[in-house]
Amino acid sequence: MEEEEANNLSSAEEATEETPVTFKSLGIVDVLCEACEQLKWKAPTLIQKESIPVALDGKDVIGLAETGSGKTGSFALPILQSLLDTPQRLFALVLTPTRELAFQISEQFEALGAGIGVKTAVVVGGIDMMTQALMLAKKPHVIIATPGRLVDHLENTKGFNLRNLKYLVMDEADRILNMDFEQEVDKILKVIPRERNTYLYSATMTKKVQKLQRASLRNPVKVEVSSKYQTVEKLQQFYIFLPVKYKDVYLVYILNELAGNSFIIFCSTCANTQRVALMLRNLGMTAVPLHGQMSQTKRLGALNKFKSKNRSILIATDVASRGLDIPHVDVVINLDIPTHSKDYIHRVGRTARAGRSGKSITFVSQYDVELYQRIEHLINKKLPLYKTEEEEVMMLMERVSEAQRHAKMEMNDTTDGKKKKRHRDEGDTEESRGVRKKMKMKKKGR
Ligand code: AMP
Repeated sequence: MEEEEANNLSSAEEATEETPVTFKSLGIVDVLCEACEQLKWKAPTLIQKESIPVALDGKDVIGLAETGSGKTGSFALPILQSLLDTPQRLFALVLTPTRELAFQISEQFEALGAGIGVKTAVVVGGIDMMTQALMLAKKPHVIIATPGRLVDHLENTKGFNLRNLKYLVMDEADRILNMDFEQEVDKILKVIPRERNTYLYSATMTKKVQKLQRASLRNPVKVEVSSKYQTVEKLQQFYIFLPVKYKDVYLVYILNELAGNSFIIFCSTCANTQRVALMLRNLGMTAVPLHGQMSQTKRLGALNKFKSKNRSILIATDVASRGLDIPHVDVVINLDIPTHSKDYIHRVGRTARAGRSGKSITFVSQYDVELYQRIEHLINKKLPLYKTEEEEVMMLMERVSEAQRHAKMEMNDTTDGKKKKRHRDEGDTEESRGVRKKMKMKKKGR
């Protein structure tokens, strides 16, 4: 697994060990090679090695590669090189599905083209049309746009057209089409010259992408790199957007709703792992914590309980879950979002293994939006929202608050050293057992 998650970029470097391929040897001119050096791009990535020579040869490219593979460089470098040969305004258009991607692409163009004074404009929704119209009036060399907003400008901004465009890039074409931008893309294709070069990049080759390929590319050369960041198909991934203060109550709601399954709940700290385990135990759930402050023996003990199905909920930190053979689980819950997007793949990879299906639900609070966007960017997918009934969730509030309060008290007691170590590692205390008993009785009495 760890190995599988190795970076695409480093594998490119490995592959170059015997006959070192450089940007120069691919045909990139010195000024752009220097820009790569400035960016600390030591060697071309696989997709760059495959596609740059084809593009420099003047051919259309269809690239099957994901974000993270270095694909932006693989189309930006040939475009910039061609721009150097035949300087012209409104030279290239890059269509991309999201605002975030548009800005990232523009940054790479600006960085790679810093030495040659390239001007770019980002044309995306959510930004004032007038400001964009003024930017377009300055005639940048490269426009990076989401299809909807670009069509708006093509239809409504006086004096703006792309009749002399030389390069069209469709980045993440599968996502563009999945987001129902098909009509907009068609409109754009109608108002740009047929005499042009087209690069189409997509993570997957869907029917829609094939159709678009036939409609817009001429004798393209297909280049492909296998991605190591893919999550398996049988994995249903969801997210929940919620205020941070409601994380626990939503967690309990989901655990109840999906009762009968086995779960791993990921937390970012040992303390939170411990706290959540105590809280769930106070609610009568069979939860076991697994974190780095437990000895290896205790960790294995916890894991064995989980494996032997004595416990159906494992609450773990990333560190604790590494290197241990955690069995198949039905549901992975990211109670705390991973700070490193790669950990997301690692976490959700705990389910939907060996052809079985699985679910993952990622909690996204008001503080996690950026991290979450990075995950979506990495996995190249927009995840659906996990449906919950807010009213039903809120009905659990009182019981969860009480369990939280007791968990907190138990945590304080434990850190005070009043409780036995045995119980501490296990996430269980005499008090928690007492509270549990009390709560069970309460539940029965209802
Ligand atoms: P992309 O797949 O185009 O979004 O690129 C992913 C990341 O890889 C970006 O941060 C790039 O700056 C970086 N990158 C692209 N090409 C190279 C390279 N040849 N060497 C090192 N990093 C690179």
